[in-house]
Amino acid sequence: MPLYVEKKPDVLITEDGVRTDGRLPHEIRPIRMTVGILDKADGSAFIEWGGNRILTAVFGPREVHPKHLALPDKALIRTRYNMAPFSTPERKRPGPDRRSVELSKVIREAIKPAIFVENYPGSVIDIFVEVLRSDAGTRVAGVNAASLALANAGIAMRGLVAACAVGRVENFIICDPNHDEDMWGDADMPMAMLMESEKITLLQTDGPMTDEQFKEALEMGRRCIRFLYEMQKEALKRPYLIVERSVFEQGEV
Ligand code: ADP
Repeated sequence: MPLYVEKKPDVLITEDGVRTDGRLPHEIRPIRMTVGILDKADGSAFIEWGGNRILTAVFGPREVHPKHLALPDKALIRTRYNMAPFSTPERKRPGPDRRSVELSKVIREAIKPAIFVENYPGSVIDIFVEVLRSDAGTRVAGVNAASLALANAGIAMRGLVAACAVGRVENFIICDPNHDEDMWGDADMPMAMLMESEKITLLQTDGPMTDEQFKEALEMGRRCIRFLYEMQKEALKRPYLIVERSVFEQGEV
């Protein structure tokens, strides 16, 4: 079987800011959100974002097993991020690895501040994030879908958590990096916000940025996240329906 080798594109971004997939710096890949698609889960959501396909399911609040893990005054929140073996160009070894353990934690920390955990003492809320197809930005896609699945399960929340990554390719700050930009771009910065207060619940940076570039990236991230939030609200109003927007235009939010 030939080895799958990825090739760096000759040009990651043109002088006019046109990216490898034809987007401009402020444009998001096409997104669809569908809520409530699993009848066996208490809450569920499916997100398609660029080439990402991610299914999230929420179970709970329910009894904790093993019992000694139960917290007397609040709910235990457990998150599992998992990539299917067929979700990557080359078959991924099934089961947990370092990256999935880390991303499970990152997603849990991003979502947890939204949940009124004190409303559910002694119980557990399990959040499953199953990546069926991956195409860069799975953690932020997972946060958006997990938040929808929690709301769909009727869990008491302060607000939704919305998320988007931004990045830098040469001198351009870009939103929603694609696979090429994630691999060969200069910086990548996934972000999430609890929308009720716009408090940041996830902010990671990978790669160098000047103070000015960081400020610009943060502002672009905020704008993209507000856009995602509008989509989430629409998806929740019309469960079982698809909300689709192709691109985020500068100045829309
Ligand atoms: P994120 O998906 O949140 O951007 P990473 O930056 O770790 O997280 O991964 C970027 C992309 O690299 C993923 O979305 C996926 O497409 C790809 N990727 C991650 N892990 C693997 C893997 N084990 N095998 C192949 N591709 C992977």
